[in-house]
Amino acid sequence: MHRTGSLLLAATLGSAILVSIAAGQQRSADLGSVLLQQPSVKAAVELARTDELRTIEDQIRICEVEAPPFQEGKRAEVYAGMFRDAGLKNVRIDAEGNVIGERPGASARPHLVMSAHLDTVFPRGTAVKVRRQGYVLRGPGIGDDCRGLADLLAVARVLNKAGVATPGTISFVGTVGEEGLGDLRGVRRLFNETLKDRIDRFVSIDGEGLGITHIAIGSARFRVTFKGPGGHSFGSFGIVNPVHALGRAVARISEFQVPGSPRTTFNVGRIGGGTSINAIAPEAWMEVDLRSSDAATLRSLEKQFRQAVHDAVTQENERWSSSSLTVSIDTVGMRPAGRVPATAPIVQAAVSVSKALNLPISFAEGSTDSNLPLSLGIPAITIDTGGRGSGAHTENETFDATDAWKGTQRAVLLAVTLAQP
Ligand SMILES: [Zn+2]
Repeated sequence: MHRTGSLLLAATLGSAILVSIAAGQQRSADLGSVLLQQPSVKAAVELARTDELRTIEDQIRICEVEAPPFQEGKRAEVYAGMFRDAGLKNVRIDAEGNVIGERPGASARPHLVMSAHLDTVFPRGTAVKVRRQGYVLRGPGIGDDCRGLADLLAVARVLNKAGVATPGTISFVGTVGEEGLGDLRGVRRLFNETLKDRIDRFVSIDGEGLGITHIAIGSARFRVTFKGPGGHSFGSFGIVNPVHALGRAVARISEFQVPGSPRTTFNVGRIGGGTSINAIAPEAWMEVDLRSSDAATLRSLEKQFRQAVHDAVTQENERWSSSSLTVSIDTVGMRPAGRVPATAPIVQAAVSVSKALNLPISFAEGSTDSNLPLSLGIPAITIDTGGRGSGAHTENETFDATDAWKGTQRAVLLAVTLAQP
């Protein structure tokens, strides 16, 4: 990375104007508005508004290709084609299924990765036809994250259309495995293999509204299985009961005391087991989700949870003077916590861009693809898409695209800003 001087540079690169700003001004609070004065950048930002109908069409088109967890392939192919049409270079799908397209700058670094996630929470066979009434779109995943994918594509398209040249390089990535049991497998692969040691800054576009997420809520998810010999409810009475053990564990977990700040939560989300009302179950299971925006707090909550499960087993065994009840705890998800302070350059870049576009500033915490880079110490934020939404993760999800172009504009200007040295 090259950092010298403090002059605003406007060097020609081919026919395009190289939009550049030196390191001294990088942290200036008005960086966004300085860059916005560049004619090509101004044109790109304007296109994000005037091309809004195109963005909405893309959003619908992407969303009507289903992308269940671990089966994002079909959508990935379609999205890769859209990347090519938008003029991105070296468009490819990596071994995990992430779609990657490049927009080379004058140099390889700084290298900004901007992303949105391909996957939904919906199983194969879900009706994905989008219903549209004016600006209101309805369909599973229409906001989360079809809008993010459409925004990302719009950023690539308008930067190319307006001929914006940047000092650094931008890679555009549609990630797999952001939701649920996907456990960030896409972004994990991206940072650990596909683009290992080559990413300087990361921005995920995910979530409706105009928030800036710089605190990553970590989560730890477990499937707990209790097992016993099982038997007749009357004839075998007096043996350990996996359902009862599960109940003991749930009772303990429900009494956990957690801090409100850093926000820390627990949930037994699903339970199951047993074979019949008049049988002592041979097995019972539960799925547990623990979260905190603080890594150490999450670790201590996990310890408490494991202790609660083991105490429940001990008590159930003692109750029947037995040792035949056993338990296994399988980790089914581990999202690392992390954060960048609000004063960090990447957050301040988003603030300056928002100010330049007269958008409100609101900070948020969340659980997104940014968790992974933040846990690795790589500057990352997640920005909302603009627009308004409701019913995320339900088949009745809606996205109101009224003025959603404001979010697209912010993503465009942020991309240019973070592709500066
Ligand atoms: Zn999402």
